[in-house]
Amino acid sequence: MVVKQSVNELAIFSGKPLFDDFKSTSSLYQPELSKFLQYSKTFFDSRHYTNNGPNVRLLEQRLAEFHEVKHCIAFSSGFWAIALTMKELALPNKTEILMPSFTYRRMADITAWVGLKPRFCEVSADTLAVTYSTAKDCINDQTALILGVHPIVNCCDVEGLQRLGSEQGIPVLFDSVESMYETIAEGKIGSFGDAECFSMHASKLLNGCEGGYVTTNNDQLATALRLKRSYGFLGQDNCVVSGGLNAKLTELHATMALANLDELPQLVAANKKRYELYRTLLPSVTGIRLLQFDEKFQTSYKTIVAEFTDDWPFSRDETVVMLNAEKILARSYYSPALHQKKMLYPACEAELPLTDYLCKRFALLPCGDFIRDEDIRQLIELLQFLRENAEQIKSMNLAGDNHGKK
Ligand SMILES: *Cc1c(COP(=O)(O)O)cnc(C)c1O
Repeated sequence: MVVKQSVNELAIFSGKPLFDDFKSTSSLYQPELSKFLQYSKTFFDSRHYTNNGPNVRLLEQRLAEFHEVKHCIAFSSGFWAIALTMKELALPNKTEILMPSFTYRRMADITAWVGLKPRFCEVSADTLAVTYSTAKDCINDQTALILGVHPIVNCCDVEGLQRLGSEQGIPVLFDSVESMYETIAEGKIGSFGDAECFSMHASKLLNGCEGGYVTTNNDQLATALRLKRSYGFLGQDNCVVSGGLNAKLTELHATMALANLDELPQLVAANKKRYELYRTLLPSVTGIRLLQFDEKFQTSYKTIVAEFTDDWPFSRDETVVMLNAEKILARSYYSPALHQKKMLYPACEAELPLTDYLCKRFALLPCGDFIRDEDIRQLIELLQFLRENAEQIKSMNLAGDNHGKK
């Protein structure tokens, strides 16, 4: 099958999109309905809908076992898991959280919510993540917390950041949303630093519709977080500790997450098949490089990230526009970088030339439960077509004002 006969058939020039329905980059995995219903019965029959119900407790226990860690505390979202943990861990009377700029879009917003300022540091070109030395350059007398964020493919320098934290006497938090399933040389992700945070949003590996959780070996931190997520009520007398709010996970969300947790191995096996097909086919497109998972360790193969190198005839942004028009929801990978955004709240100025360079080069390609092998084959053919016809496409004023017009 030929995906396009001529350049005029490209959707960007008003041709029919390659796909009828959108091809997403989200996981969106669904468990067996029977399994979901089976777990539902527990809370439904006991009419225990929220406030530390049976399924939330079971989920926390299962996740603590999964991550080989002492405590797991569930939250209504990854956002609140991260925000409340930041607040607990940040050193008093210090103002900055050290974090990468080339990272999750909302990270600076979460920091602002906590009343602290992001101090953006560089990443390594090899891992696209923070390392001991990139973080060390940004430590100062205002550093309240080091936030290591795992990149989408493979992990950040866990050992290095832990070492930096203990050398400097600064707590270390990991955003491990993208590395829920991973292991590293030192063991399973979930037990490192002072705590690690995860999301169970529907687009993530473990789909709880919404939700998040924190893992830690620190008893005091676990107790404090359990209090804070539930208004800070201390027992029956309703004496309230400060900073509490309602960030509890409901039984319904825990039920979805439990059903999906049972099926993680199947989900990962399907991810791996998709990844392997990309790895086989993508080398036929000169100028696009697949980021490879480190298979020495356990990995989820969840997200497909590609680099558009200097050999590719279009910019990453031009490519994403063309793919989006074909109903391929490719997304630029962490772009713009956080330090490049105009913020309405305090942030520290930063000059990060490597981040400026990297954030123009990567995009996520379709993956997750809705993507079939045939979709991947067609996408690769389309990319080949774009490459072969680059001259003509560019001459038709790709960036000009004829979008959507013939
Ligand atoms: C999605 C995400 C979050 C936030 O999780 P929510 O549950 O959506 O609030 C935090 N960090 C990273 C890296 C994420 O991808």
